[in-house]
Amino acid sequence: MTSDHYDVIVIGSGPGGASLAHRLAPTGKRILMLERGDYLPRSLINLDAKAVFVDAIYQAKDTWYGKDGREFHPGLHYYVGGNSKVYGAALFRLRERDFGVLQHADGLSPAWPLGYDTFEPYYCQAEALFHVHGQRGEDPNEPRSSKPFVYPPVSHEPRIQELSDNLAKEGLHPFHLPMGVLLDEKNGKVTPTSPCFRYDAFDGFPCPFNGKADAQVICVDPTLAAHGNFTLLTDAYVSKLETSLSGRSISRVLVTREGQEEQYSADIVVVACGALSSALLLLRSANERHPKGLANGSDQVGRNYMRHNMSVVMAIMKEPNPTVFQKTLGVSDYYFGAPDWAYPLGLIQMCGKTHAAEIRGEELPEWLEWLPNMPFEKMAEHSMDFWLQSEDLPRPENRISYDGDRVVLDIHEGNLEAATRLKQRLKHMLNATGAHPVLLDRRLYLGKDIPIGGTSHQAGTARFGTNPASSVLDLDCKAHELDNLYVTDASFFPSIGAVNPTLTIIANALRVADRIKERLGA
Ligand SMILES: Cc1cc2nc3c(=O)[nH]c(=O)nc-3n(C[C@H](O)[C@H](O)[C@H](O)COP(=O)(O)OP(=O)(O)OC[C@H]3O[C@@H](n4cnc5c(N)ncnc54)[C@H](O)[C@@H]3O)c2cc1C
Repeated sequence: MTSDHYDVIVIGSGPGGASLAHRLAPTGKRILMLERGDYLPRSLINLDAKAVFVDAIYQAKDTWYGKDGREFHPGLHYYVGGNSKVYGAALFRLRERDFGVLQHADGLSPAWPLGYDTFEPYYCQAEALFHVHGQRGEDPNEPRSSKPFVYPPVSHEPRIQELSDNLAKEGLHPFHLPMGVLLDEKNGKVTPTSPCFRYDAFDGFPCPFNGKADAQVICVDPTLAAHGNFTLLTDAYVSKLETSLSGRSISRVLVTREGQEEQYSADIVVVACGALSSALLLLRSANERHPKGLANGSDQVGRNYMRHNMSVVMAIMKEPNPTVFQKTLGVSDYYFGAPDWAYPLGLIQMCGKTHAAEIRGEELPEWLEWLPNMPFEKMAEHSMDFWLQSEDLPRPENRISYDGDRVVLDIHEGNLEAATRLKQRLKHMLNATGAHPVLLDRRLYLGKDIPIGGTSHQAGTARFGTNPASSVLDLDCKAHELDNLYVTDASFFPSIGAVNPTLTIIANALRVADRIKERLGA
């Protein structure tokens, strides 16, 4: 059995763990990163829609269960870089009002215990680190920012520019999506030395060219190259955290690596397994001092799971849409409401262009009713594709837990009216521009078992707060009940807003890294 002591152990190499390690490594402290997965292969098959979406070759093989006992496969990806290997890289700030109480049709979105001002400088740092390309001043709900984007927006291709112009004529405020991509353009053309280029297999696909600003490319690889004090172990599954006799600190991290049992220890342990897997790790680490699971005296670990009410909509346009890199435009005009609806609706953004293989894989007979004579290739040629997301509210009964060895995810859907109305808005929006498309729902991007398997935007399973009776983490994202345990994925979110979560995860991880640096005197 191997055993070794470090200054800091980071569990999980996704954006939450990797950003923290990237910030801590220059201190010279000995840092160990434990990642259950391996490097995701760099292969041209990564561009194959059938392999990635229909056969789901990179999705975790885990089987989880709904409360009703039905099994499903969560949309998780265990690799160096975590789920950011396949993410769409739209990197948004939460809006200032998301940090306060927001009234929704189905209830309240609670306030955060820290306000936007605390996160603002870290949002700037996160945007710079993850090469976010964008344009301030376009998004009508964009929060205050102390710095411009370091990188210019990714340009629209002609059909998307035309859509943008038409939406603007209708009085809307389309904007360039903030995108984390290593793409250099000059006068709308990709430069000869740009690491990334415009291709149609970016959003939801792992980039074989390392052109996506994911946690491996941006944080793990450069940190490994620059800092000998940083060690990464792959295929290293953390099975359990053990505590000291008093229960006040993590004394050992138990790992199964390449089939062998190992154990490690550190002055500080940071858990960043993704909001669902982190809660599971805490729960299965229950011991005499923590009978309901580590840091779970409040019984809040695993509860308040949020994931956005999402849909992917394929609009079949009259004219072909030859756009290659489509994920460049967003519309937030209905984020906080609409003329006929006083409550927040959410965000509309473009997503990657639909491939014929994905349409074939959807196996949705109702599509044939609409377009009986249209071959899938033709549909794909005419598609324009949108990603819609509305806020999911925290509810204690929405929960991940163990039933013996089985993982059970209990979901009660809520706030669905917002999602329905947002889709109607999209339809009106496109009709007003004269497009009058047929709108079809797609589900493969979100995982084959949506809504339950749609775990791509997961948050809230160990929320932070000042009251140990109702929260798991303190304001530094340290467990209330343990002196050396931190959590830096989206577990800490008290609410999720309606923007993509990852920039907030990164910003917070950098913030927590600064607190840990202070604590280590580094
Ligand atoms: C298809 C898709 C598209 C997305 N698009 C966007 C987008 O456009 N914008 C956006 O903001 N977000 C997007 N997301 C969400 C984004 O990927 C996540 O928010 C982000 O990756 C979360 O980072 P994390 O570090 O918290 O967790 P993860 O990325 O899940 O990383 C956790 C890591 O921990 C490892 N791990 C888990 N358990 C253990 C264990 N017991 N021992 C050791 N290691 C462990 C995992 O293997 C993983 O590498 C998308 C996600 C998907 C799936």
